[in-house]
Amino acid sequence: MWNWSSRGVLRASIHVRAQEDHVFLTYTATENGERREYSYPVRLDWTPCQYGGARPWFLCPARGCGRRVAILYGGAVFACRHCYRLAYESQRERDYNRLAGRADKIRQRLGWPVGILNATPRTKPKAMHWRTFWRLTAEHDALVGAALAGMSEHLGITERRLEAQARFVSSKT
Ligand SMILES: [Zn+2]
Repeated sequence: MWNWSSRGVLRASIHVRAQEDHVFLTYTATENGERREYSYPVRLDWTPCQYGGARPWFLCPARGCGRRVAILYGGAVFACRHCYRLAYESQRERDYNRLAGRADKIRQRLGWPVGILNATPRTKPKAMHWRTFWRLTAEHDALVGAALAGMSEHLGITERRLEAQARFVSSKT
């Protein structure tokens, strides 16, 4: 049984049953506010050591992967670093980049410099009605807020992933 705590509070626990050719993981994880039970095997592979004996490797349990790795990263599901980068980071990046792109379209219409982290002059193009200007400004601010929240959440996820990083080292007996 492994327990993870942060700031003195138990965040997660996991039950690990080790066999010669796999470890069986059983745990509960909360993702997007939803608690779910997980229970699945992670296959092991053994390679001989130079001075005798053998060392185990995980075969990444993510579908279609199966890479031989020393470390699995735990979020809701355990997977190798490669899978984590593909499944999580790119999805998040797409989400907040899409929001930032929509904000940029508005900035162009308003004649403001493109790029949500650039200065926001809040000037109205001469030919534009005030009502249109206020509507676009409000929409722009909402998009920027959501994009920035997505970015910081992304950074937060990276942090949690490192925190929950688990390394299982066992010796064959
Ligand atoms: Zn993988």
